[in-house]
Amino acid sequence: MITKKLMLYFPKSETEKPIVYHLVKDYNLVINIFRAKVTPEEYGYLVLDVTGTDEDIRRGMEFVKTLNVQVDESHKGVRWDEATCTDCGNCISHCPTAALHIPDRATMKIAYDSDLCVECLSCISNCPFRACSSIF
Ligand code: SF4
Ligand code: SF4
Repeated sequence: MITKKLMLYFPKSETEKPIVYHLVKDYNLVINIFRAKVTPEEYGYLVLDVTGTDEDIRRGMEFVKTLNVQVDESHKGVRWDEATCTDCGNCISHCPTAALHIPDRATMKIAYDSDLCVECLSCISNCPFRACSSIF
């Protein structure tokens, strides 16, 4: 048995689905919910400890991904939504650790390295397109 801390991010259309129920019943997982939030836009976040065999956790996460739910193992409360990001670059000078950065000057596309993020939340107030959000 192992325990993993995971963040699940799910869109409005999936917030009504009994995801935790299925993880417990169908995949034999023990779930400890740390935080749960539905934003004003009605996107949902769940931060969980998931305990089970490696195989059951892997199968359970495959199941939630089929529901259009994103699984994040970074344990961070900040989320960067690549699909919403316009690569405007406004956040770059506000990110103190270069967690948000431009890896390739040729494309000028933004990338996010969750290992570098210190959860200062600066990018949230400095992103005009609301590509950065917090679960807290
Ligand atoms: S929360 Fe702070 S450190 Fe993390 S990506 Fe945003 S600006 Fe950078
Ligand atoms: S400010 Fe927002 S939209 Fe602009 S590059 Fe940063 S995350 Fe993307």
